[in-house]
This record gives sequence, structure tokens and C-alpha cells, in this order.
Amino acid sequence: MYGKCGRLEEANNLFTRAPKDTLLMWNAMFSVLGVHGKGLQALNLYNTLKRTNLQPDRFTIMSVLMACSHSGLVDQAVEFLRKIESPSIEIYNCVIDALSRANRLSEAEKMIINMPCKPDIITWTTFLGGCRKHKDIQRAERAIHELNTIDDKESSTYVLMSNIYGETGNVEQSKQVWQQMKDKKLRKVPGTSFIEDNNGVVHQFIVGDTSHKQYHAIEERLDTEFEKLRSAGFVHDISFVSHAYETYNEKIRHLCRHSEKLALAFGLINTPEGSPLLVTKNLRVCPDCHTATKLIALLNKREITMRDSSRFHIFKDGKCSCGDYW
Ligand code: ZN
Ligand code: ZN
Repeated sequence: MYGKCGRLEEANNLFTRAPKDTLLMWNAMFSVLGVHGKGLQALNLYNTLKRTNLQPDRFTIMSVLMACSHSGLVDQAVEFLRKIESPSIEIYNCVIDALSRANRLSEAEKMIINMPCKPDIITWTTFLGGCRKHKDIQRAERAIHELNTIDDKESSTYVLMSNIYGETGNVEQSKQVWQQMKDKKLRKVPGTSFIEDNNGVVHQFIVGDTSHKQYHAIEERLDTEFEKLRSAGFVHDISFVSHAYETYNEKIRHLCRHSEKLALAFGLINTPEGSPLLVTKNLRVCPDCHTATKLIALLNKREITMRDSSRFHIFKDGKCSCGDYW
């Protein structure tokens, strides 16, 4: 519970005191280290576990690999895989994730082709995520081809490819992919963020949604926050905003209405100054929100925790716990 709420230290303290005679207890701690991207700690804990008479299972292994992947410990992840007897596809996918994130896409692709199990949707989507991050269009196109032979109705594949084209300046191709998606009547999953108020009520914000009863106050707060941010030197990252928004101002307006920004502004308005905030999001946090949140945390003297679909980000004093590696 502590780990899932972004409170790594409390989770650690509790684990230190807890009886450790079942793998369940260890795996709880490994999963916390996994979502927080604490690679070295996970590897150390794994060595400690190996000295007991308990046997790690696939959840233990996946958590260790996830922790390595999210902290850039790629060689360690590959080495770890080498020692595992007949690894499953999920385990391979974790290592492919580590390689892809770290721009070792050629090794990742080789691993996909040569591994003894058949690559699945997760394998190719993970690889595609790396291709997007490192702007490798050719490999992305190969991944898309493979993904479409498995399932050509998965909207996230089209969204990723359209973004890759858009971010690399191939506007026409980006529009074409968007059109294909429309023709197939596929819809993009909207970004949605959640935040709890002081009475324990959870508030939901969808990108661009204006229906919240405090919407005007939220909008005003966002305007003031971004004015402060811009005078502190913040520049919006519009490279990944959909071509559907044509002018610079439209793009900025859209960026400032991302669900995590709406939830954040709601939190700033409704909680005492200086208190920590926790936002959860269904998709990965975008680079613009990531940079903005670092500064919002700094300027408002708040600790802001954001749990996205892939890991925890703890923003404090102008930095994020992910070290900008996510
Ligand atoms: Zn965003
Ligand atoms: Zn982060």
C-alpha cells in the first residue's frame, strides 16, 4: 500500500521490520522497487533473497528487470536474463523494454527475432515505444507491420505511429495514419488523471474536459502557474502535439489542458500550501507535463507524486525521481 501510494521510504521501513518467511512479502517489496525504478536496490535485494531458502518466481524476476529498465541498468538486465533458466515471454519483454528505452534498438530487435518464444503484442509495442523515444522510423515501421499482423484494430498502435511521424516532421504521413484510424472507426483512449481531495473524494479529469464544477478556478490557476513558469524560462514542448491543432497558440492551449495538469491545478487549489499531492494517470505522462510539474513543484514548494501507466515520478525541488529516464 505504501509503495503503491509512492511512499517508498515507509514501504522500505515496514519491509525491514516485517517477517520475511514468505515470498509474498519479498515480492511486495520487489514490485515497489520496480515501479519506482530502483534498479540497484532491487539487484541487492535479489542477492539477499538468494541467500535465504526461498525460490524467486517470475514476479520477482519481472520486478527486478522492471527496476533495472527504469533506471537504465541495461547491461545488468541482459546479464540477469542470461542466468534465468527458460525465461518466459514476459521476462524477455522486460529486457526488450530495457534495451529499447536505452536506444539499443538493434540489440532489442535481434533479441525479438532470436528469442525462443513468439513475440506478442507487448513485445512489439514495447519496442515501438523505444522507436518513438529515439525517433527510429524504419524500425517503427517494421514493428507496426508485425503488430498489424497480430491485431490491426488496436488504436494505441496507430496513435504511436502517428506521433512518431508527427514528431519527426513527417506531417503528411502522420495525417494518413490518423485517417486510417478514423476509417477503421478506432478511437484514441483519452488521457485521464485522478486526484483525491481532503474528504477522500476522488476527482477525475479527462484531457480537455471542462465539466468539473471548479473548472473556471482550475483554468485560472493554470494560467497563473504557466505565467510564472514562462517567466522562469519554461518553454512548452510542442513537438508531440497532434497536427489537429494548427497554430502555436492552439497547441499550447491543448497542452495546458492535459488531464494531469487539470488534476494538478485542482490539487493546488484545494489543499493546504506545502502539502504533498498525488496524481494518477492512465497513460504515460507526456514530456511537457513532466517538465512543467518539476517547476510547479519547485515554485509551489510541494512534493508532487505522479503515478503513470509505467512508473512513479516524485517531483521535488525542481527534479524528478526518474532522473528524466522513463
Ligand atoms: Zn501532458
Ligand atoms: Zn519523472
